[in-house]
Amino acid sequence: MTQVQPAAPPRKQRPPPKEAFIDGIEHVTPGVIRISCSGPELAHFATPKPGGHIKLFFPPPGVVWPSADPASDIPRPPSRTYTPRRFDPAQNRLEIEFVRHGEGLASTWAERARIGDRVLIGGPGGGYVPPEDLRSIVIIADESAMPGAGMVLEALPQGCDVQVICEVAGAAEERALSPIVACQPRWLHRNGGTTPPGALLEEEVRNMPTPSTDACWWVACEAASMRRIRDVLIARHGVERARLHMRGYWKFGEANHPDHDYGTD
Ligand SMILES: Cc1cc2nc3c(=O)[nH]c(=O)nc-3n(C[C@H](O)[C@H](O)[C@H](O)COP(=O)(O)OP(=O)(O)OC[C@H]3O[C@@H](n4cnc5c(N)ncnc54)[C@H](O)[C@@H]3O)c2cc1C
Repeated sequence: MTQVQPAAPPRKQRPPPKEAFIDGIEHVTPGVIRISCSGPELAHFATPKPGGHIKLFFPPPGVVWPSADPASDIPRPPSRTYTPRRFDPAQNRLEIEFVRHGEGLASTWAERARIGDRVLIGGPGGGYVPPEDLRSIVIIADESAMPGAGMVLEALPQGCDVQVICEVAGAAEERALSPIVACQPRWLHRNGGTTPPGALLEEEVRNMPTPSTDACWWVACEAASMRRIRDVLIARHGVERARLHMRGYWKFGEANHPDHDYGTD
């Protein structure tokens, strides 16, 4: 008897990336480069949610991807996750802010970027939409999460009490989180030395007075420190898990940390 083999599942079709070209490069602080890009394909870029993400693709030199040939089997190139900090649909223009953290596919690309360079963008996806009746929020971010924090700040309902805590390398990295919403973050400076990433955020959270029970928390920083902050919030301050929006944006010593690290483990 002939055995009928189940058909192989169809290959997951991902939408092709959108192509844009760099039209602006600005050194916002010594440690952050803002790159803007535009192009007609960004007419199909959906409005990003606050703290949402995009994927930037980096094909190896000489590789044309995506190929015009549908039968081409050029593999999907490496990608990295970034925040679509500001999108202007009138000009099909997107701004992205890159932390200059040293060796890294995306960080090195940003350092070397030139006007006219091609940018390949997937997304946007994800994000955090603050509830309309939100009365109080604490935003905790390192440099990589300041673009996301700025977006969340701009989406808060009127009258919402907001407290922002940012850990940065030093005073030169302090900057406005948003050009349209005023806020006075509490700045924590690593000031070189051996302070592990996120340690100052954790210490700050540990020592703060127990917050009001109706506060929500948007926390995004290095993955291990995000978990320690989560534990302090739950165990020491009794914050309900449902009030926490946690994201590990990068992981110390690990390249290409996944974009869906919500600290649920
Ligand atoms: C939803 C989301 C939004 C994000 N938005 C932004 C954004 O707007 N701007 C931004 O700069 N980053 C953002 N990130 C973080 C970014 O994806 C990571 O920093 C990523 O690792 C950078 O890629 P890379 O190729 O430069 O370095 P990788 O090749 O991934 O890593 C190389 C080395 O650099 C280290 N490293 C990576 N990032 C940092 C860092 N920030 N500081 C110090 N060391 C680091 C790694 O531990 C590793 O050892 C976001 C992440 C997520 C999940």
